[in-house]
Amino acid sequence: MRIGVPKEIKNHEYRVGLTPASVRELTHHGHEVVVETDAAAAIGLPDEAYTQAGARIADSAQAVFAEAEMIVKVKEPQPAECRMLKPGQVLFTYLHLAPDPEQTRLLQESGAIAIAYETVTDRRGGLPLLAPMSEVAGRMAIQAGAHCLERAQGGRGVLLGGVPGVPAAKVVILGGGVVGTNAARMAMGLEAHVTVIDKNLDRLKELDMQFGPMLNTIYATVDAIEENVLAADLVVGAVLVPGDSAPRLVSREMVANMQRGAVAVDVAIDQGGCFETSKPTTHAEPTYLVDEVVHYCVANMPGGVARTSTLALNNATLPFTLALAGKGWKQALADDANLRNGLNVLDGRITCEGVAKAQGLAY
Ligand code: NAD
Repeated sequence: MRIGVPKEIKNHEYRVGLTPASVRELTHHGHEVVVETDAAAAIGLPDEAYTQAGARIADSAQAVFAEAEMIVKVKEPQPAECRMLKPGQVLFTYLHLAPDPEQTRLLQESGAIAIAYETVTDRRGGLPLLAPMSEVAGRMAIQAGAHCLERAQGGRGVLLGGVPGVPAAKVVILGGGVVGTNAARMAMGLEAHVTVIDKNLDRLKELDMQFGPMLNTIYATVDAIEENVLAADLVVGAVLVPGDSAPRLVSREMVANMQRGAVAVDVAIDQGGCFETSKPTTHAEPTYLVDEVVHYCVANMPGGVARTSTLALNNATLPFTLALAGKGWKQALADDANLRNGLNVLDGRITCEGVAKAQGLAY
């Protein structure tokens, strides 16, 4: 199969659909890969790395879209990209169609077969192509939070691990899923005092088994959340209710009563956020203050570490890309119910229940 990799065009998006290592794997299996020039130069993957891996370099996105039978990307296609898609062409990327009627309509009109990373499942009902970005965001949340705690950033001037004779900072993580676990691991690594709060008792048991007495696990009640958030130096919002907006666990009043210079890193901002005071920010201007509490609410955290994120994403997507290229989309979807769950648009029809419901469309 001929696979195309355009350069991402969304503002400040430096990730790329395929790494040179993935290209080599695909060409090794007899496929052809066309990569737009400078697709990943910004993250240290120059055109030469792609040609060495067996790809051909095209000088424009138009050339990539015109030639390829399957397009592999990272971000949802922008309107200009949707218009370049052809009937019968496979698109494999993040789509996030539910809140995006314009993109949905353009994909329907394109006649392309749109398979979304975010709805591919695994045997345990997890979302294996979302998990790597949650791992990145969880780990990054502590790095970002530590920086925000510095006085010059508006923080209370606290070092996460303390020093001998001075207590460590209190880190409270709301939600002990993929983001929360990775955040906890990083915060423990920096020797902070770490507490994870979750409403799923089984998850708390797993975390307790995994990390032992280094980690405090607390069952989520309004009381427990209030007590811990008010005493915290850094609070990480990492809750998720699948298919729904994030629950607002920290009220405006609670924020007003937090310590001056405390930091809220709301990773769940892409689902609306779990602090009542959260609003989305960007890497260019990541923080703002509410009642002297520093809020970091970057909606696309993994984009900030685009190289690590690209490599992590490719580890997870490559087996599916190989299956789609090797068997053709029809057979690959017929053989794998988990990959089939990724199918969002086919022949102009919506094939994902969540997307259809969110937009009141036929399914
Ligand atoms: P996950 O499903 O692995 O974990 C969510 C956890 O939240 C679960 O353990 C669940 O029991 C817990 N939870 C749900 N409701 C709760 C409540 N009311 N009280 C306490 N705990 C509750 O999800 P995840 O992969 O860790 O993702 C967490 C959030 O981070 C999601 O909103 C996701 O979209 C977001 N995310 C954001 C970025 C970003 O760049 N900002 C990147 C990746 C993920």
